[in-house]
Amino acid sequence: MQPVVLKDVARTYRLDAVDVPALVGIDLEILPDRFTVISGPSGSGKTTLLNLIGCIDRPDHGTITVNGQPVQTLSDDALSDFRARHLGFVFQNFNLLPVLTAFENVEYPLLLARVPKAERRERVHKLLAAVGLADFAEHRPGQLSGGQRQRVAIARALAIAPQLVLADEPTANLDSKTGASIIDLMRRMQQEHHVSFVFSSHDTKVLDEADDAVHIQDGRIVAIERHRMPAGATV
Ligand code: ADP
Ligand code: MG
Repeated sequence: MQPVVLKDVARTYRLDAVDVPALVGIDLEILPDRFTVISGPSGSGKTTLLNLIGCIDRPDHGTITVNGQPVQTLSDDALSDFRARHLGFVFQNFNLLPVLTAFENVEYPLLLARVPKAERRERVHKLLAAVGLADFAEHRPGQLSGGQRQRVAIARALAIAPQLVLADEPTANLDSKTGASIIDLMRRMQQEHHVSFVFSSHDTKVLDEADDAVHIQDGRIVAIERHRMPAGATV
C-alpha cells in the first residue's frame, strides 16, 4: 500500500477576491518506507502540498489517499483524529511547547493518544536517546540550541509510531552544518523506523540524500526523480 496517492489535486487561495492558484493538476505517489524530498523555489507550492498530504488543509479538486484512507471525505473532527493517529510533523520553527521539557514535548502526542504512563516513559527515553539527547530530557526548548530543538521535534514526530512523517523546510532555520546533521538524523530515523519521510526544501544540496525527489514550480510537478529503486522492484 502506498502511504500517499494524490490524483489531479488542485488548491487555490482566495486573497482579496483574487484567486491565487497554488497547486494545479498534482498527480503523485509517495512510495512506502522511503525518504522523499519536495523541492522547489520559494512560493512554488511546497507548504501547500505538505499541508494537503498532512490533512491540515483540503484540496479544492481531486483526491488524496493517505494510508489507504481517502481523506478529502472526512469531517474536520475525523481529519484531526486521523492526523493524530497516523502522522508525524516537523516544522521549520520547531513548534515545541516552550513551557514543557524535551521529555514532555515528546510525551505530548502519547498523552493525547492515551498511551499508559510506563509505556510513555519508555518510548520517550528511547526516542530522546535515538536523537542524541538522552542527557537533555529535563531541558526546556529555551535551554537548547536550534539543532537540539529540531532533534526534539523529530523525536516527537516519531512518538506515536506514525506511518508517515512530514517535514516542511526542517533545516531552513539552521546553519548548513547543523542542517546537514538534521537531514542525516531524519534519514537514519526513516530507515530504522521504516516510516516514509517527506520533507520540503528549497536547498538543492539535499536532493542527493533523497530516495525520491519531486520538483515543483509554479504549483505544478515538473519532474519526479526516483534515485533508488523501490524495495522489491525488478529492473
Ligand atoms: P512554498 O512553501 O513553496 O514557498 P507555498 O505553498 O507557501 O509555497 O505558496 C504557494 C503559493 O500560494 C504562493 O504564491 C503563495 O503566495 C500562495 N499562498 C500560500 N498561502 C497562502 C494563503 N494563505 N493565502 C493566499 N495565498 C497563499
Ligand atoms: Mg513553504
